[in-house]
Amino acid sequence: MIVSKFGGTSVGTFQAMKNSAEIVGSDTNRKLIVISATSGTTNDLVALGISELDATSQEEILIRIKERHLSITNQLENKEEAERDFKEELTQLRQHLEQVARDKRWKDRLVSFGELMSTKIFIHVLKENGVDAKWLDAREFLKTDSNFGNAVVDLPKLKKNISEKVNSDSVYLTQGFIGSDIFGNTTTLGRGGSDFSAALFAEALEAEKLEIWTDVAGIYSTDPRVVKEARPIKEITFDEAAELSVFGGKVLHPATLKPAIRGKVDVRVASTSEPEKEGTLIVHESLEKPVIRALSLRKNQTLLTVKSLAMLHQYGFLAKLFQVLANYKISVDLVSTSEVSVSLTLDTAVNASNKVELTSDVINELKKFCEVKIEKEYSLVALIGNNLNKTAGISGAIFDKLKDFNIRMVCHGASENNICFLADEPEGEAIVKLLHKEFIEVQE
Ligand code: ASP
Ligand code: MG
Repeated sequence: MIVSKFGGTSVGTFQAMKNSAEIVGSDTNRKLIVISATSGTTNDLVALGISELDATSQEEILIRIKERHLSITNQLENKEEAERDFKEELTQLRQHLEQVARDKRWKDRLVSFGELMSTKIFIHVLKENGVDAKWLDAREFLKTDSNFGNAVVDLPKLKKNISEKVNSDSVYLTQGFIGSDIFGNTTTLGRGGSDFSAALFAEALEAEKLEIWTDVAGIYSTDPRVVKEARPIKEITFDEAAELSVFGGKVLHPATLKPAIRGKVDVRVASTSEPEKEGTLIVHESLEKPVIRALSLRKNQTLLTVKSLAMLHQYGFLAKLFQVLANYKISVDLVSTSEVSVSLTLDTAVNASNKVELTSDVINELKKFCEVKIEKEYSLVALIGNNLNKTAGISGAIFDKLKDFNIRMVCHGASENNICFLADEPEGEAIVKLLHKEFIEVQE
């Protein structure tokens, strides 16, 4: 069995839906199809939930949502049915907006309309492409806690529920991203959560493969906007892919990989506009294990250095430091220590999934027991590969190329899949270009 997930751009227009439907129909092993909202719709729905929104802007957004979807249904042969199904959702959305205060709980219901609308239409597109799929409401089997906006899934319940709904005799279509709590309230798994839903479904159904269909042809060796020679990686292990997604590879949300790892499900990432290309296969065991497979770059990193003479031959200082950071929910990336000082890096990029804010409160808290120094504008470069902690001479080979740069916070050895370091922010791109040329382009 294959679970196939199509992202927002892969269902964003009639043509995109048609391409996706053709892909579904081209392999009868694709039994569960999971889709996102049409691209732009979740953002629109989030905007509708803003309490200061005036009536005119609300109407504008609703019209935009309506037109986006009707421009798809309009191109269907049997457009009446699809339009009716879509309009039913739209009416409910309007009623929902009238009835409810815009609190957290109702915001999840509000954004869920995106996936409900897209699936209501896509089922008809599938049909016109010869795939007679059954429509499933994911909220009936994806049960979660009541942590609205970021709900935690009840996996044993999902396993039980989904196996009662899905069997290999049919093809099913359902929504990513949404679920419901024990009271039946709609919940969501966090932005970008459709990949995660699909991975959980694949795990729960013990599928052989999970496909993530998107608008890029797989996971790239590095960001192609930085290095034009970057190429999709043919095959990568879960350990490497996890490091890569944590350090800035944008294709998959880090959480996606966990269910696939637990369930031993291979993952394929491919593009709906070039379905004939293999894309990237994420596997448990890879035959080829290059020492360096990919590079990532994260800008806007902050270096926090704390110093205390009281740390000399003392115990408990690090515990105290990390306790303060934990109290303020600050997540730390790299750590380096000397006898009396500790340096930490924090992801302060605006678009970071785990964006850290160093408020004056936390700084004052730290100043109670140590000197604090904050330096901004660093780039974090990570090299991802295999056996990096056991390959003789590898750090020499890397840093030999970087003689002209000021490098700090080298972290090597904690993971066999990664070496990373900080550089001055403006030099990050040049470093990635240089390392890509030296260590990745030569492999081709
Ligand atoms: N539609 C949701 C979002 O835009 C979920 C997803 O696309 O993965 O965040
Ligand atoms: Mg998406």
